[in-house]
Amino acid sequence: MSLHTRITCPGCQAPYTLRLRLTGRFICLRCRAQAVVDGIAQDASRPLVTAAPMPDDLSFVQIGTTGVLDDAPFEVIGRIRLQLRNDYKNFWCAVRKEGSGFWIAESFGSFAVYNGAWQPYTDLASKLRSNKTIPLPDVPVTGEYVERCEGLALSGELLPWNVVDPGWFVVQGSKGARTAFFMTKPNVGGVHYLLGKKVPVENLKLANTLPWNEWN
Ligand SMILES: [Zn+2]
Repeated sequence: MSLHTRITCPGCQAPYTLRLRLTGRFICLRCRAQAVVDGIAQDASRPLVTAAPMPDDLSFVQIGTTGVLDDAPFEVIGRIRLQLRNDYKNFWCAVRKEGSGFWIAESFGSFAVYNGAWQPYTDLASKLRSNKTIPLPDVPVTGEYVERCEGLALSGELLPWNVVDPGWFVVQGSKGARTAFFMTKPNVGGVHYLLGKKVPVENLKLANTLPWNEWN
């Protein structure tokens, strides 16, 4: 429904054409007002503004970065930045030409690709720990870290992502190239996770990245 839908920013009236087949949220790149798309009415008099401005952390992936994954070109059109207690994590929302989307997660220069849909985690929440086996339907992963999410900043066009208030725990688990990212916000329909794979950055064939000088 979203692809090619034209929307107007409720804050600054900038026009945008949505590019994902299923847009979860849209946060204006200019004024940070949030247009809630797909069936939820916008109230132009009270635009939602996301809590935190997007910090400049010199990530070399940026909105507008392009790449190729498994022979399909994509472009980065949105970003969610999680401020964790001891780290931060960017989830870049990428769209392919025909409107399908995926997340590219980046943390300290390593990358993982997650296909959009969140899945319910049905085992015990007590198994979501570092260095423990986390059972998943086909292959288990091993918990790598548990961190509290202290803040979120959102920008651009995003795939569905329900939890936008801080105060929940992030759990990452991996096994080989497989990786899973869990959101453990209590009372929001249980724990959900994204399943993905680790990808060497050269496999993404990124272009239009932020040039940086390591000597600065
Ligand atoms: Zn705006």
